[in-house]
Amino acid sequence: MRLFEGTEFDRPPRCEQCGELEAECKCPPPEPVYKPPHKQTARIIVEKRQRGKQVTVVRGLMAADNDLGALLTELKSHCGAGGTLRGDEIEIQGDQSQRVRDALSRRGYRVR
Ligand SMILES: [Zn+2]
Repeated sequence: MRLFEGTEFDRPPRCEQCGELEAECKCPPPEPVYKPPHKQTARIIVEKRQRGKQVTVVRGLMAADNDLGALLTELKSHCGAGGTLRGDEIEIQGDQSQRVRDALSRRGYRVR
């Protein structure tokens, strides 16, 4: 005998969104839950790369906690510079530390 057999709890699990059995549900997976910016601290470092090129690197913001792609897009347009994602790090070309700091603070991140 199953636990709750014959009671109102004895129901196969159903999706809360569409009401289908969970095995048959085709709802998209839930949106990732990001961590609030004010609980995260970004570190901004300007590094020298080959041929003396400078890049501004943002560390400390994890891909699991942030939409880093959206953040990269915003930083690139705010700085008017190219950039890329490397794992959990955002890189913006040139010494953009002040602009990156402004943009991150405006979003609510703590910046070190
Ligand atoms: Zn569903």
